Amino acid sequence: MKEFTMEKMKEACGVFGIINNDDYDVARFTYYGLYSLQHRGQESAGIAVKNGATILCHKDMGLAHEVFNKVILNQLQGTIAIGHVRYSTTGASEVQNAQPMVLRYRNGNMSLAHNGNLVNASKLRDELEAQGAIFQSTNDTEVIANLISRYRVLNDNIVDTLKNVMDDIRGSYAITMITPKRLVGMRDPLGIRPLCLGKIKNSYAFASESCALDAIGAEFIRDINPGEIVLIDHEGNIESHNTVEKGCRKLCIFEHVYFARPDSIIDGVCSHKARVEAGRILAREYPVKADLVAGTPDGGVDAALGFSRESGIPYGHALIKNRYVGRTFIQPEQTQRDSGVSIKFNPIRSEIEGKRVVLIDDSIVRGTTTRQIVQMLKEDGAKEVHMRISSPPYKYPCFFGIDTSTRKQLVASKNSIDDIRNLIGADSLGYLSLEGLLESVKGDKCGYCTACFDGDYPMEVPFETLKNSCG
Ligand code: SF4
Repeated sequence: MKEFTMEKMKEACGVFGIINNDDYDVARFTYYGLYSLQHRGQESAGIAVKNGATILCHKDMGLAHEVFNKVILNQLQGTIAIGHVRYSTTGASEVQNAQPMVLRYRNGNMSLAHNGNLVNASKLRDELEAQGAIFQSTNDTEVIANLISRYRVLNDNIVDTLKNVMDDIRGSYAITMITPKRLVGMRDPLGIRPLCLGKIKNSYAFASESCALDAIGAEFIRDINPGEIVLIDHEGNIESHNTVEKGCRKLCIFEHVYFARPDSIIDGVCSHKARVEAGRILAREYPVKADLVAGTPDGGVDAALGFSRESGIPYGHALIKNRYVGRTFIQPEQTQRDSGVSIKFNPIRSEIEGKRVVLIDDSIVRGTTTRQIVQMLKEDGAKEVHMRISSPPYKYPCFFGIDTSTRKQLVASKNSIDDIRNLIGADSLGYLSLEGLLESVKGDKCGYCTACFDGDYPMEVPFETLKNSCG
């Protein structure tokens, strides 16, 4: 039996953390936070809670609501909690790699949850192993945990420890952490992965996205700055340490293209607004005569709205998505249409019959899903299908926590736009320009990582991996 996986980039993880200075149930709040961040990772979920000097932790494979129930949450009583939802990019998809990780070191217990990917994890792991370290998982978060416990013994405070760790690690990271006395949030020096801070009464929370703060009724305070370490105690004292001079931020632009929930605000930009704007710009860059504009659920919906508003072409639904199909499901052995795409999406014949349809999607990775969707629309009566993509051609692999295919699998890395149009069977194809995408997020190249579109990586990436990925 084959498993069918939708052809989409997978976000690596979502993190959450809360310190209770009122009478909140921190495990429940973390659970609600993880629920709102579920789109960032569906393989495993976990919560760690500080209870006196110990840290209680429950984690398992599955969605947040599969991993936790009332009984488990009731057992996770404490004053500080962190949580994690995971999709694996480094390390296998198995429970040993689920987070948060709990560290027992000489002065007490700590726990950490990490979103991102280290580009020098294997080198650091080799060095640590050569010095006698034993690893229980294959993920790079354990490398960070190991470095923390090593440096903690050498320093008399946690801030210097974390600064030492930040000096060693390269890559993307948004981390929440429980220390013996405080809740910590930290973001990599380029701010590739998002992390924000919120407040509810006298309690504070960190989250990968502001939608998780909304879910617990917390007020958004601010984004954590690139390279910033923020520590919060039970008196409500907030200590902030900036480890980098103010310079270029490099937030992953794909957060706004696709990964983030549309209602999230990251680094001052609302993802929904950015996507609608991207659709408007796309309509100006690639106008077309048509009867209906529709988005591929869910990634193309906001941009389709913008395309429709700008072009004046009516907005509607061309496809229905089966919301109960998980990230992967068992592919049928025999099906007329040659993959599970027809189980996940179904055209609405009455909406598209005899019409020229503009279909918007956020990206094309390998092109196979897009081809099947275009074919379905045509089989169900669409007169023409014009594909519009609300980001530039995706040509280069990501090394910062997004699971993309290797470069040789990325259809845009080796085909012209006309070849891709032919391959997917669309009547026309237009991609948003990089300038258009940057305009949609009100930014410029100093502000966003755009490497998967232009190969301009914000730091050195592993040459061997790049070479292999280029095949
Ligand atoms: S390479 Fe692309 S997906 Fe990866 S961090 Fe940069 S913009 Fe995001």
